[in-house]
Amino acid sequence: MGIKFKKRLQEAKILDPKRGYGEKVLIMETRWDPLTNRTVRVLDLPIKRLDKLDMEEFLKRVGDVRCPFCPDSLEELTPKFTEGFIKGGRLRFGEVCVLPNRLPFDKFCAVAVLTKRHFVPIADFTEEILFNGFSISQVFLRRVLEVDSTVRFFSINWNYLPMSGGSVIHPHLQILGGELPTNHQREMIQGGRDYRQRWGENYWNSLILTEKELGERYIGTIGNTVWLASYAPRGFGDIMAVFRERSSIIDLSDQDIRDFSQGLIKVFHYFHNFNHYSFNLTLYSGEYGADDSFWVNARVVTRRLLPPVEASDVNYFEKLHGESIGYKKPERLCEEMKGYF
Ligand SMILES: [Zn+2]
Repeated sequence: MGIKFKKRLQEAKILDPKRGYGEKVLIMETRWDPLTNRTVRVLDLPIKRLDKLDMEEFLKRVGDVRCPFCPDSLEELTPKFTEGFIKGGRLRFGEVCVLPNRLPFDKFCAVAVLTKRHFVPIADFTEEILFNGFSISQVFLRRVLEVDSTVRFFSINWNYLPMSGGSVIHPHLQILGGELPTNHQREMIQGGRDYRQRWGENYWNSLILTEKELGERYIGTIGNTVWLASYAPRGFGDIMAVFRERSSIIDLSDQDIRDFSQGLIKVFHYFHNFNHYSFNLTLYSGEYGADDSFWVNARVVTRRLLPPVEASDVNYFEKLHGESIGYKKPERLCEEMKGYF
């Protein structure tokens, strides 16, 4: 097996005013992503729990605009698909409603409004809400394939709350289908192919076996989904879920989606107890109809505004250097999360 967990530690010395300007050694760690070889920086801040956020006050401050996804306004404010594409203009499953995104990030770009409720606290999401949302997103993507065979790259995405870039508080997924992959999708797909060619094995299978054996970042298994703390984190907390032997979101079974939903609820309970209020989530799909060297996987990365001035947690490093900074070691995140699985 060819999984390599490469890292490098470097030191910097400062004179610390908190210790009467005595010398202090700071440690900085660089990690290489075992699939894409991209580097990230890991600073292991000695913070057990982040500060609580007054959500009521936060919502009062940002929530005073008419929400297009609340039941009253959804019917009259949101667009519809053409009749030939989606009969009736919108797809529905339980409380979930799939409608077109006005911002065309991709050839097919839809929004899945998850609930009738405007604000759902992170610990209140149920298996039913999540299952219905991801399931109807898959139905939408299957319909995309029926009408356009040039579309081969899919993803389902979630910005939960404004700290993560979400411009509407009301919980909603963003569903993408296009002819071109995103950078990270392309790097993962190519990385999986290169790994298969070099080692004769599936990368994700090797990753799961290696992580299980090491036990440092293996959080747990739920049905067909395996949950890991990402070796090279792309934020404060970065959790990965791998679907065994599924190359495309199109191939996921109902049970796979149910397993994923159950796992996500456990992750959300951990977030709730450790005061993580916001996250980005992506469910990545391989190239549809191509080889099976890619396994569907998801990443969930926590987001927050940094005190005291509510600074963004994405800065020049991520925007202009394309390099993420993690503030907690994945091995510590794994220890904390295990109890929830
Ligand atoms: Zn709303």
